Amino acid sequence: RFADAVPEMAVAWRADVPPAPALLVQNDAHARKLGLDPAFLRTAEGIGFLTGTALPDGAHPVAQAYAGHQFGGYNPRLGDGRALLLGELTAPDDTLHDLHLKGSGPTPFARGGDGYAAVGPMLREYVVSEAMHALGIPTTRSLAVVATGRDVVREQILPGAVLTRTAASHLRVGSVVFANAHAQATGDRTLLARLVDHAIERHDPETTATTPTDRARALLDVVIARQADLIARWMLVGFVHGVMNTDNMTLSGETIDYGPCAFLDAFDPGAVFSSIDRQGRYAYGNQPGIGEWNLARLAEALLPLLADDTDAAISVAQDALDAYRPAYNAAWSAGIRAKLGLGAAHEGRDEDAVPSLVSDLFDLLAFARADYTLFFRHLATAARGNTDPLRDLVADPGPLDLWLARWLALAPDSQAMDRVNPLYIPRNHLVEEALAAASDTGDLTLLHRLTDAVRSPFTERLGLERYAEPAPDAFGPYVTYC
Ligand code: AMP
Ligand code: MG
Ligand code: MG
Repeated sequence: RFADAVPEMAVAWRADVPPAPALLVQNDAHARKLGLDPAFLRTAEGIGFLTGTALPDGAHPVAQAYAGHQFGGYNPRLGDGRALLLGELTAPDDTLHDLHLKGSGPTPFARGGDGYAAVGPMLREYVVSEAMHALGIPTTRSLAVVATGRDVVREQILPGAVLTRTAASHLRVGSVVFANAHAQATGDRTLLARLVDHAIERHDPETTATTPTDRARALLDVVIARQADLIARWMLVGFVHGVMNTDNMTLSGETIDYGPCAFLDAFDPGAVFSSIDRQGRYAYGNQPGIGEWNLARLAEALLPLLADDTDAAISVAQDALDAYRPAYNAAWSAGIRAKLGLGAAHEGRDEDAVPSLVSDLFDLLAFARADYTLFFRHLATAARGNTDPLRDLVADPGPLDLWLARWLALAPDSQAMDRVNPLYIPRNHLVEEALAAASDTGDLTLLHRLTDAVRSPFTERLGLERYAEPAPDAFGPYVTYC
């Protein structure tokens, strides 16, 4: 559908044939959901399917063109440099999924890159995207990681891999930016209009708007709403995407492109993990503002359709963008109330007390640099009468005790808290040890154990104690690489 709707943005391409393909991990539950037979995918032919070398009849893989702003700087031609859209797959439940490869060889968009990916980062995407899904956060999914048997040259020589992932689509803010650049260069807005139609048919077919102007506005509104909600969820769970370039922001509202991402250990609004984010542009606390900046680039790219003259179009765009902050604030506020056990059952109560309680809590968290995930989990334990695990997370429990008294007076629901505050997240030190074992010795035991833990993030289980502990001090500051 993508290649038919916007052929100007699709380059027919084939995946490289891996020299020695070997399945590393496969997501059987997701395969079944897609209507694929997990046993078949493990056969040689199945691995050919997963790596794009044994194509089903009628498949026409394409590399997608898109533009993007990388760390704020506009790049008119990014595109799938090492990725490939294999095709679209209709699942037994009638949902439509892109089947997509990462690390499948250089395409015409590769620029300086080699087109390949290393085992470690592809397994990181696998486990972190599974964790995000289990946390209820919209995300692309990982179907499998196949080792290619090809060495990949980075700072060291690393084993190569291909990730097979699925997504509601791979349409990005950068896709719209690309189509607008085409309109600016040629004076022809039809590609931009076709892309809007394609996105709406794909994600929002119930949209009633009929004119190109109304449809562009409808798309802008819905993407703003979805991204406000998505980024609020990231913030609530302590997720740092790491590279929120406009080519890594979807129209579907799914989290995409797990590169240098990480979860917060100690709470810190300035937390940055990515080795390439030297200015901290994509720091944890900057994410809501960066989301708004990226959406402004989306609105700009839609200007030619939003009204006939530019001033009118800008005012329509501004009107749409004005919805972002309230939508973000509403999603985050509802989420934080739930994390504090003051959700649905407390609706309409404590309206005056909650905002200052929340802002004082975040001051306290930032000052204490407490473990973000465990803090909320141990709050529920405190509500059940045992404040020790919580108090152990901070150096000076004095201010915490004062805050606790105010919070407990509101009668939080500790059972509801355990359903929204995860115990098991892909902690950085756990991800690292699992990737190192897989990459260095081919031992996937730790990766499987971690994946199992994060797939049920809210349910405490015996034997998983070390998966619920903060990083040992020896782990040191964490740095991620793409
Ligand atoms: P990212 O920010 O990681 O999503 O990637 C940004 C752009 O760089 C995309 O156009 C990618 O396809 C491209 N890219 C990243 N790594 C490579 C690579 N090893 N070879 C070719 N292109 C790459
Ligand atoms: Mg990307
Ligand atoms: Mg990437």
